[in-house]
Amino acid sequence: MVTVIGGVVKDYEWGIIDGLAPWCGGATGRPQAELWFGAHPSGPSPVLSADAAALPHSADSVQCDANGVANRSPAVLHAASLLDATGVPLLVKLLAAAQPLSVQVHPRAKLADDWWEAQQAPGAEQILADANEKTELLVALSEFEAFVGWRPLAEAISILSGIPGARDAVRLLTLGDRPSAIRSLLALDDRTESVRLLPVAAKAAGLAPADCAAFEMVVRVYPGDRGALLTALLAHVSLSPGSAVFVPAGVPHSYIHGLGLEVMTTSDNVLRLGLTPKPIFVSEALDALDDTAVPQVIHVEIGEAIRPVGAPFEVRLVGARSAGNDADAQRSTDEGSTIGQSRGPRSSDSRDSAATGHLPTGRFRLCLAIEGSATVTTDDGTVSLGQGTAAVLVAAEPTATVSTTGLVALVLDRGASL
Ligand SMILES: [Zn+2]
Repeated sequence: MVTVIGGVVKDYEWGIIDGLAPWCGGATGRPQAELWFGAHPSGPSPVLSADAAALPHSADSVQCDANGVANRSPAVLHAASLLDATGVPLLVKLLAAAQPLSVQVHPRAKLADDWWEAQQAPGAEQILADANEKTELLVALSEFEAFVGWRPLAEAISILSGIPGARDAVRLLTLGDRPSAIRSLLALDDRTESVRLLPVAAKAAGLAPADCAAFEMVVRVYPGDRGALLTALLAHVSLSPGSAVFVPAGVPHSYIHGLGLEVMTTSDNVLRLGLTPKPIFVSEALDALDDTAVPQVIHVEIGEAIRPVGAPFEVRLVGARSAGNDADAQRSTDEGSTIGQSRGPRSSDSRDSAATGHLPTGRFRLCLAIEGSATVTTDDGTVSLGQGTAAVLVAAEPTATVSTTGLVALVLDRGASL
């Protein structure tokens, strides 16, 4: 039985105003930062339907359905309890960033487990949202920029050497002591002046224009935040639509701006170091850093699997364009390099070139309709997905075939195979 779920919107300040409207049911006039598909307690997805009848075919009908679980059919309520009981191993999000997210680190499994246990004590500080590791993959749906992993030490030293207040941090970096350098930067007295100098110092260090522009954006949005200086330590990554970056737990990062698909283990454990009005946990974030964890930038064509080494999941974007549809390719060029935006009805030509994908039994699977609609077929029948809804299949359910004239993301759990 294929279960269809809707997304849960998060309106964090860094989100794009109405940036997720094509997927979440419409405009709100507010930042729309993330749309969650999964079973995490901080935002469990509404179950829309568990059978082939009465499925939503548009984002509008999703909005209506999402309002009242009590009115659902017995089959839907059964599916909701099944997802809760089975445990959904992955969390999938659409993410729309207008401005930089916090500089952050996610804990590995052992650390998350230990700290979660410790914070159950009465009066203990609440740092984590759950007991799980957070390892994540960001697939760009538009041009997407991020700081991920460490910048070469020599380059970081070169940038910070242009900031008089950062002299002590430079000395510590020269000794190879990043954690102490981070503490030093986060304790600067003249933070506003030091932060202001960051783009100037980056330019003087000979960094590429895109890199310098990223610093300018960070400084514009967070002029008084010492955490801005930490971006001098992070590698700058530019992703074109369809490309991805894998961010294992323990890797420092800050997404800068763009529209993306995020796939992660089902966790919301974020240890922040800066670029945020939220609490920062410097000691814990430094403890969570893991220099053996290495980010991976992956460039693929639509239709090819994104399978990072060591990841507990894999992702494949499947779209009519991957079937060689010239009209779509031309339209993509005309409208700029963005995928995933709602573009209205398609011509009969493009309908002829539907793309298909495969969701083999034996693993948790999720299929998210990003552009247009899709159908998911198993031995039990066919269900339709409206844009912004997802089909979920637990491991025991049969192999499924997905067909779309738009664009879908296929997400497969690989936890058991590692
Ligand atoms: Zn993250």
